[in-house]
Amino acid sequence: MNRYLNKTITSILALFYPNLCQACATELVGNENQFCVSCWKDFSRTQFHLFHGNPLEQKMWGRIKIEHATAMYYFKKDSKIQEALHALKYRNQQEIGIEMGKRIAFEIEKCPWIKDIDILMPVPLTAMKYKKRGYNQSELIARGLHQVIPIPLDTTSLTRVKNSDTQTRKSREQRLENVEDAFIVQQNATHLYGKHILLMDDVVTSGATLEACATSLLQIPNTKVSICTLTYAIQ
Ligand SMILES: [Zn+2]
Repeated sequence: MNRYLNKTITSILALFYPNLCQACATELVGNENQFCVSCWKDFSRTQFHLFHGNPLEQKMWGRIKIEHATAMYYFKKDSKIQEALHALKYRNQQEIGIEMGKRIAFEIEKCPWIKDIDILMPVPLTAMKYKKRGYNQSELIARGLHQVIPIPLDTTSLTRVKNSDTQTRKSREQRLENVEDAFIVQQNATHLYGKHILLMDDVVTSGATLEACATSLLQIPNTKVSICTLTYAIQ
């Protein structure tokens, strides 16, 4: 079947029959949650959390000081994981974020460094985007992780604004080097002093968004930043 048509049918079926796999639309049985066993197996895991100097950590080297960085699954175009992320972001399938967050937690709870983390912080959306979508998919992933490893969650101290609001005086060249948006730490965020923050996002591609967030967070006295994303994009 035409792939586009196939995807459309999956989307429509999943909307009306919540008991279907969000990636392939087969009926879920037993303990299956959001995706069928076959699709869960299809999501290829990076195992980055098991080794220091993994590709995500290397990606951030020389850009910003990151203590640890991990991503759960590889993100490939036209893969089941892309279908899963699409459902999470654009089809209001919020439960996917929670379930994925729990799965991340079951993996990384074995890492010694997770015990050093003081605060979970999802990469925020701009106020306009949040209003439009109704939820922040990265926050859902963080909430899922929090349900398994109850590290405090902070969804208010970091805000995201359109770069044009804050950087109108910068030259065009300077702006092109930056991410589209800017991240601002709330002035009263003294509870973050000296804390180790785990920054969470749904996908990492160039790493520019995480770099921009971490740059803001590292201006708070004595903070440390680690990174955990649901997916890691590869070509
Ligand atoms: Zn499936």
